Amino acid sequence: MSEGWPLPPDPGTVVPHADPGTRASRPAIERAVADLIRALGEDPHAPHLRHTPGRVARLLEEETTQTPVRITALEDDIGYDGLVTTHGITFGALCACHVARLRGVAHICYLPGDRLVGLSKLARVLESCLRGLVVPERLAGTVAACLEERLDAAGVGVVLDMQLACRPGSTDTRVVTTALRGALREPGEARTTFLMQLGVGDGNGARPGGG
Ligand SMILES: [Zn+2]
Repeated sequence: MSEGWPLPPDPGTVVPHADPGTRASRPAIERAVADLIRALGEDPHAPHLRHTPGRVARLLEEETTQTPVRITALEDDIGYDGLVTTHGITFGALCACHVARLRGVAHICYLPGDRLVGLSKLARVLESCLRGLVVPERLAGTVAACLEERLDAAGVGVVLDMQLACRPGSTDTRVVTTALRGALREPGEARTTFLMQLGVGDGNGARPGGG
C-alpha cells in the first residue's frame, strides 16, 4: 500500500499507467501480420486477405494502447467502512503465451482506506491492467496490487474466472485465479463477506493463493 496517498483534487487524480514509449505501432503490426500470413504459406495480397493486416493491426493497437485512469474520491459523509464489491465485470485481453483472446468475468472488492471511489473505477482500473499481453496466471495479482495502490485501500480481493482458448488439448479451458491483499488476506469479516458473496464456503478455510 502506498503511504500518504493524498486525497485527489477535483476533478480527480489522473494515474498514468504505462510508459507512452511502449505504445503499439500500427504500421509495424501491419507489416508483421503480412509477414505472418506469408510464413503460413498464404498470399497477403489475395482478395480475402488483403485487408487482414490492417484489421488485425487496428484491433491489436486498440487492445494494447494505455489510457490514463482518472480516479475521483466520493464524498463520504457517513464514514462508510464496509466492503465495496462489484461482481460480474466482463473483460477481454490477449494472452502473452499465444497472443490469443481470453475472456473472463471479474469479481472485485475493496475495503476503503481514507477514501471511497466510484464503482465504475474498479472496472476502469481492471481495464488498465489488461492492456498489452497478459499472463493469465498472474493477472489477479496484478489487478489486486494495482487497486491496492491506486485506491489506497485497506484490503483488496480479486477473483478472475477466465476462459482460455489457447491451452493444448482443449478449445476452451476455464481458469479461476484469486488474489487477496491487505485485510482480505487474513480470516475476518471482510474476507468472509467477499468469499461468501461468491459462494465460496465460509471464507475462512485455507488461504487462497495467487497473490
Ligand atoms: Zn495463451
